[in-house]
Formats: sequence, structure tokens, C-alpha cells
Amino acid sequence: MITTGITIGIDIGGTNIVAALVSSDGQVLARHTIATEAQRGPQSGMQRIGDLVETLLRETEKSRVSGIGIGCTGPLDSERGRIQNPYTLPTWDDVPLVEALEARFGLRAYLIHDCAAAALGEHWVGAGRGARHMIYITIGTGIGAGFILDGRLHRGLGLLSGEVGHTVIDLNGPACYCGARGCWEMFAAAPAIARRAAERAPADSLLLRLANRQRDAISARLVRQAADAGDPLANTIMDETAFYLGVGIANLMNIFAPEVVVIGGGVALSWDRFAPIATQTIHARSGMMPFARMKIVQASLGLNAGVTGAARGLLMLRAADEA
Ligand SMILES: [Zn+2]
Repeated sequence: MITTGITIGIDIGGTNIVAALVSSDGQVLARHTIATEAQRGPQSGMQRIGDLVETLLRETEKSRVSGIGIGCTGPLDSERGRIQNPYTLPTWDDVPLVEALEARFGLRAYLIHDCAAAALGEHWVGAGRGARHMIYITIGTGIGAGFILDGRLHRGLGLLSGEVGHTVIDLNGPACYCGARGCWEMFAAAPAIARRAAERAPADSLLLRLANRQRDAISARLVRQAADAGDPLANTIMDETAFYLGVGIANLMNIFAPEVVVIGGGVALSWDRFAPIATQTIHARSGMMPFARMKIVQASLGLNAGVTGAARGLLMLRAADEA
């Protein structure tokens, strides 16, 4: 039985929902995962998330639980506690999750974007610990970010973090689903890496052989694998991606002057491969910044970043309530 002050943190992604008991010093004490299966509908989703909470409550004393923090893949309405993401959570349009959990458990609940949650987690007990100014960037299917400025999570209009993936790095670049052209995401996110490789892979290349000669089976992960095995085009694509990552990161560093930039998400797992060119690119483009005093590091909490940060968000909300 866990008896210290704890918070429930929930991380909702397109594939899995993770829920955890998080201690007042940011440790994950217990964790459970279920498949998201959003297509089963919002009622089923809210019921199953509630059941997860119930499972966790059986592992502690409810009187010790300060509330439920939820990080979720967006778009969301954080102000109203509603998930509005039928894009990656099919059928979940205007789902009142905060209201449902508060009614079922009588606990305060709070909903934030998954990038903001991960930023809070990495800042609290992860790679950005102790930093006053930190940028968290997640690079995966898309590119997102959360900003800790002067120790606080930046929340813009509608409590939004900003859409860094849709800052333009090439005025004449490929059209983006957001309506603009040449967005950062169109160059450096996983689908962009796969697309550029698929367009250019020579017919007899190792990369195409690894993809069973099907261009649409080329993924960012396969590009990394082929690059490691010596495929020339895959290595060119990795080098280009490192450059594009560097350009986007330099832009953010020039805007926010962070102490630490924390890089997370699936593409960031290849940061060791990207770092030399990316760092050189950033250095070359941040001449007006004290680059030597800025750190760029990989995220360190892995699967726990979302649940930890969601719990942190709830604690900060409660502190603000009491102030
Ligand atoms: Zn865009």
C-alpha cells in the first residue's frame, strides 16, 4: 500500500493509454497500460480510462490522491477539458474526459497536450531538471514542443503551447496538410524522412531490399537501419535530416534563448546519428546566442515522461488554485 502524497498521471496516445501513480517527488510508483482502440468510441474510452484509474486507486489510499492529470495527443480544448482529436483518435471529437473523471471519482482532473506534459515531466525529474528555461521538442510522426520559461510552462491563447512543426524552413518547400508550404515537419518528422527516401531510393539499393522492394514500406526506422548498414542514399537522407533538425532547433534557440533543449520522440532515438551535423548547423545559425552555455540533450524519462508530466501539471494547477 502506497501512502505518500500521490497524483494519478494519464498519457493518451494513438496506440496506448498509460496511467500511473506518481509520487510527490516525481517517481512512478505503479503503472498500467491498455490499448487505446479509439474506434470503439468515446463512451468506451472514458469508461476504460476510468477503470484504469480505479485499478490504480486500489493500490493506494484514495485520500492520498491529489487529482488526475491527463496528457493527450491533440487537438484538445484544455480550457474545457475536452479531447477534439478525431484525426489520431478516431471518433473522439469533443470528448468531455475531465468532466467524466471528476464526476466518477470526485477528484480534480486536468487535461493538457501530450507535448506540454512531456515537457513538464522532463523538466521536473528528467533531462531538463533544474533548468530555468527549457525547450522540449518531440520529433516523431509530427513535431511538437513545450516551453518552460522562467520555470513555468508557457500557455498561449486557449492554453496552447504553439505549433513549432508548422514554422516554415523553406518558402518553396512541399505543401503541408496545415495549408502552408515548407513547414519544419515536412522535412524532419518521420513521414518526411520516409517520403524523401522512397522518392529517391535506387532500384538496387539495400534500403529498397530491406523494404521488400516496396517503396511505400520504407519507414524512418528502416532508413536508419539501412544507413547503419552502409546504404549511401539512406546516409544522405540521415545527413539531410540532421541539417533540417538543426535549422529548426536553431530557430527556436534564437527565439527563446533556452539553457537546455531536450529532444524526445521516435526520431530523437537516432539523435546520436544526427547530433554531429545538427549541432554544427545550430552553432552556425545561433551566432547571436551564447551557444557554449546552451545544452542539447536527449529526453531521459522515456515512457514515463507523459504520465509524470501530466501529474506535475495537476500539482501546478492545484498550487495555482490555492494561491
Ligand atoms: Zn504545416
